[in-house]
Amino acid sequence: MRGLSDKGVLITGGNRGIGKATSRRFLEEGSRVFICGLEQAEIQATVNEFRSLGPIDGMACDVGIKEMVLLLIQKAEDFLQRIDILINNAGIAWEEPFLQVTIQHWDQIQTVNLRGMFLVAQGVAQRMVADGKGGAIVNMSSTNGMVGEENYAHYNASKGGVLLLTKTMAAELGCYGIRVNALCPGYIQTTMSEAIDDPEFVAAYAREKIPLRRIGKPEEVAAAYAFLASDDASFINGEGLVVDGGQLAS
Ligand code: NDP
Repeated sequence: MRGLSDKGVLITGGNRGIGKATSRRFLEEGSRVFICGLEQAEIQATVNEFRSLGPIDGMACDVGIKEMVLLLIQKAEDFLQRIDILINNAGIAWEEPFLQVTIQHWDQIQTVNLRGMFLVAQGVAQRMVADGKGGAIVNMSSTNGMVGEENYAHYNASKGGVLLLTKTMAAELGCYGIRVNALCPGYIQTTMSEAIDDPEFVAAYAREKIPLRRIGKPEEVAAAYAFLASDDASFINGEGLVVDGGQLAS
């Protein structure tokens, strides 16, 4: 992709699943990468694993806590020199019938998936505006942010919120040379989807719902992140790019 070499990239949830594949992808593109997740030991393991690919470091940070997010952004800038690209990826999900969702569970999901996304995006955007050099932000939504899926009311609401947060940010920040887009993946094989990864369920799901007849790989989402952050997407702003093997199209 054009324009990723030598760029500083902050990736939240960069130690696992889609985020980990994305960390690898940006390193392969010649970027400098700073990652966060909840566990320092897991961050360090990913840093050690990928160190031979290029400059990478990270720290533990709960994206739902403003003070931690401000420290994360400072540490990321210290390492990267500048955050040119934000991959706002961290998220949580679980299945739960709407009628049984507790207020604690509701708040837990919104705190990470929506408030966390807002806190990191706002903090990074404020720095980008202040130094006037622009940048690219890609927020993680989901196909669940576009259509409802039963038993995911709290998750769907958070991801729908991310999509409109993205469009509003794009409308307000475009004049500063900051592009803001979202990714809307379908069913991707990661630890998040492990709970429903029974082989028979996956095979039936793919056969019945996905035109490509398979679920997605983290690397396929990482490629879409790289595209939206790159100069190849220089006129794409406020978009929610669906990466779902055709599921929503059918
Ligand atoms: P994983 O569970 O594999 O990874 C989630 C990542 O988010 C981990 O790195 C985790 O860190 C981090 N994280 C969770 N909570 C926090 C927090 N409070 N603060 C900082 N980091 C946190 O999930 P996926 O890779 O599957 O998901 C990545 C993103 O993609 C999510 O936003 C998810 O909603 C979205 N998505 C996933 C789809 C799928 O089918 N897998 C489909 C559509 C969207 P740690 O390891 O320390 O817990």
